[in-house]
Amino acid sequence: MKQNLFVYNTLARKKEEFKPLNAPHVGMYVCGPTVYSDVHLGNCRTYISFDLMFRYLNHIGYKVRYVRNITDAGHLEGDGGDMGEDKISKKAKIAQLEPMEIVQQYTVGFHGVLQIFNTLPPSIEPTATGHIVEQIELIKIILENGYAYEVDGSVYFDVEKYNRTQDYGILNGRKLEDLLINTRTLGGQGDKHGPLDFALWIKAKPEHLMKWPSPWSVGFPGWHLECSAMSHKYLGEQFDIHGGGIDLMPTHHTNEIAQNVACCGKNPATYWIHTNMLTVNGQKMSKSLGNSFLPHELFTGQHSILDRGYSPMTVKFFMLQAHYRSTLDFGNEAMEASEKGFKRLMNAVTLLDTLKVSASTDVEIAPLQQRCYDAMNDDFNSPVLIAELFEASRIINSVHDGKMKIDAANLQLIKNTMNIFAFDILGLKNEQAANDDLPKILNLIVTLRNEAKGNHDYATSDKIRDGLQKIGFQLKDSKEGTNWSKI
Ligand code: AMP
Ligand code: ZN
Repeated sequence: MKQNLFVYNTLARKKEEFKPLNAPHVGMYVCGPTVYSDVHLGNCRTYISFDLMFRYLNHIGYKVRYVRNITDAGHLEGDGGDMGEDKISKKAKIAQLEPMEIVQQYTVGFHGVLQIFNTLPPSIEPTATGHIVEQIELIKIILENGYAYEVDGSVYFDVEKYNRTQDYGILNGRKLEDLLINTRTLGGQGDKHGPLDFALWIKAKPEHLMKWPSPWSVGFPGWHLECSAMSHKYLGEQFDIHGGGIDLMPTHHTNEIAQNVACCGKNPATYWIHTNMLTVNGQKMSKSLGNSFLPHELFTGQHSILDRGYSPMTVKFFMLQAHYRSTLDFGNEAMEASEKGFKRLMNAVTLLDTLKVSASTDVEIAPLQQRCYDAMNDDFNSPVLIAELFEASRIINSVHDGKMKIDAANLQLIKNTMNIFAFDILGLKNEQAANDDLPKILNLIVTLRNEAKGNHDYATSDKIRDGLQKIGFQLKDSKEGTNWSKI
C-alpha cells in the first residue's frame, strides 16, 4: 500500500511508477549550489523539495544514497556556464580573498541555512575541485569516442555530431534544428565549431586563479562535467533519480546526459525530477535579477518587500504548501496565511497529549493516514498532504472540545500520523514547543544554582553562572531573586 509511489519524470513527460534499479537501494543525485554568494530563498526551495523526497523515500523503506555536490570551480558567468569569468574567482578578486576562502564562507553559510530549515544532510557532498582527475578521465573517454574536439588547449563537446546518432534534446523534447535556430542570434561562439557545443575543458588565461594541469592545457573543467563525473563515481553508470531546479534542465542537464551517453553509452538516471521556481511578482527569484532575498532577511523582516519577519518553519511551511512542480510566488499575504496555518497545525499537535480517551470512537483514523500516503505517493504532493493534516487537526480540536469521541487505538494512530507526516516527512519542527521549554529549563538551572549557593557550595554556583555566560545567558542576582537574560 505504501510502496506505490509515482513520480513525474521530465524525461517521459509524465508520472511513472517509481521502480529503483536495485531496490531497496536508491541512488539520488541533486545539483548543488555554486558557492560564490549566499543562497537565496529560491535555492532553498529547491533543496527543501529534494529533502522532502529524500525523507519520504527513507520512510517507505528505501536505503537512499543522496549525493549533492558543491560547485566550487568551473561555473562561468555566461548563460551556459562556460563563457566569461569564473563566478568564484571573480568574487575572490573583488574581496581580495583566496577562492577557497569564498568557497568555505558560502559553503558554511549554505549548510547553516539548510540546517535552520531542518533539512537532512546528503549522504555524500562532493566538490568539483576534489574531482578534477575524474573529470579529466571522462574527457579522455569522450574524446576517444569521437564526441569532442580540442582547439588550442580547450576541449569542446560536439553537439551536432552527437545528435547524428543520439537525441541531444531527449530531456527537453526539442529538436536540434529548433535549438540551433534559437542560438543563431547569440553569436560569440569563439573556438567552438557549433553554437550548441559546450566546454569540457577550458585553457586558463594567465590571470585565472583556479587551474590544474591536464593533457590539453593548464586549465579547468567545464561546469556540466563535474556532475557527470561525480554522479558516475558515487552512484555508478546508471542510478535512479537525478534532480535540480527546472532552470537547469534545458542546458546543464541536457549536456550532462550527452556527456554520460558519449562516455558510457547510457543516460545516467531513470527519473529526472525538476523543481519549479520561487518567484517574486511572477518573476524567478534570482541573484542576477536583483529580486532575491536571503533567508535571514525573511526571518528578521529586514527587507523592503517585507512587512515583518517570519520564523524559519513558517517559511518552510509556506513552501511545502505548494507542490514542488508549481511555481510559488512570494508575498506577505501568503506568508501571513502560512503562519496562521502552521500555528493551527502545531497547536493541534500540542493538544494531542491532553486528549481524553473514550471507550468508543466517532472517528476512524486509518483512512486519513492512508490518504496521507496516497498524497505523497502521488508525486510527493505536499499540499494535499497538508490538507489531510489540517483535517487531522480539525478532529483533534473536536475531541478536545468534547464534540467528538476517540478511542485509544485511534488516538495512537492520529499521534502516529502527525509524527510521521508533519515531522519525519515534511521535516517541520514545533518552534513553539522549543521556545516554551527553554525558560522552564533555565528556571530549573537557576533554582539548582541557588540551592548550591544556599549550601555554601560557591564552586558549583559559580560554575553554573560562568557556564551559562559562555553559552549566552547572563544571571543577575537581586533581593527579589535571580533573573536570567540572553546576552
Ligand atoms: P545555483 O547555485 O544557481 O546553481 O542554484 C542552485 C539550485 O537552486 C539549482 O538547482 C537551481 O535550479 C535552484 N534555483 C535557483 N533559483 C531558484 C528559484 N528562484 N526557485 C527555486 N529554485 C531555484
Ligand atoms: Zn549539476
